[in-house]
Formats: sequence, structure tokens, C-alpha cells
Amino acid sequence: MLLLVSVSITAKAENQAAHIHGLATLTLALESGVLEIQFESPAANLIGFEHKAKLTKEKQVVKQTETILKSPKLLFSFVGTHCKPKETTVDISGVMDSERDQHEHHNHLKAHDDSGHSEITARYRFNCIDIKKLDSVSISLFDQFPRIEKINAMWVTEARQGADLLNPNRKTISLK
Ligand SMILES: [Zn+2]
Repeated sequence: MLLLVSVSITAKAENQAAHIHGLATLTLALESGVLEIQFESPAANLIGFEHKAKLTKEKQVVKQTETILKSPKLLFSFVGTHCKPKETTVDISGVMDSERDQHEHHNHLKAHDDSGHSEITARYRFNCIDIKKLDSVSISLFDQFPRIEKINAMWVTEARQGADLLNPNRKTISLK
């Protein structure tokens, strides 16, 4: 019995190494005038649960969250130059079946994690007028999602790279 428990805990830890509730991850990459931002978070930080949304109310919360995540202007602001959102992709498949899956739920492949944890991810692409002048990026994810306590931010430009641990009192990533 004890052995079984420790094996399952080990397996879980390996699968979910980065999955700590309250913590999210941001990766910023600047190259040739394009800024790419990748956001990864345990679903609990954004919607308060990690199972597949079944109740109408749960589905509404997921939809609202998806709408916010698809609004880069609500989440990021730039100092030094102007960056325009070009492409946004949000993946909520861990907590919401697609319409097609809902109709074929008897034989669709399980996409959710058996550990009971789920992630929500988003990718953003911005075109910046003069990327060399981009001094910093301010992150408003804490305001939109108060359950996020810390964001592990990593950034890389053509010249430099760095990392920052952000919190509600420290929301700006300085790239210089
Ligand atoms: Zn979780």
C-alpha cells in the first residue's frame, strides 16, 4: 500500500514538475521585430478548478477566461515602443471539450491529465515598430486573475536574456 502511494506521487511529480497552484510561467522572445509571449498556468489560477467544465456556470467561467486571454491589450503593455498584437492562440482543451468532442464523447481520446490537474496556455505574437527601443513589458495578468500569486518570467532578445519572478507588486519585466 505504502509503495503504491509513493510510486503514484513520484509519477505525478514528474508529469507536473511545473504545476504549482498560484504560480504561472511567461516566456518572452524578441527576434526581428517580433515579440512572442507564451503563457502557461495551472487552470486553477484562472478558473478556480481543473476538471472538465460540465455545469453551465463552469463553461461560462471558461469562456470568460478565454475571452480575457484572447485580449492581449488587457494583459500586456509596452514601454519604449509600440507593439501591435498580430496573433493570439489560447488552449483551454484541458478544461473544456470542443463542440465536436462533446458530440462524440463515447470514443474520443482522453486529452485531460489523469492526475486531475490541467493547464491553460496562450501564445501571443506582436509586431513592434522599433524593437530595439522596447524597454519593458508590463504584465496585467495579476489584475485579471487574482489567484495568480507569482509569475516566473523568462525573456530572451538577440543580445541578452534574463529571468524575473513577478508578483502583484512587481509586474514589469525590464529588458534592458
Ligand atoms: Zn493543479
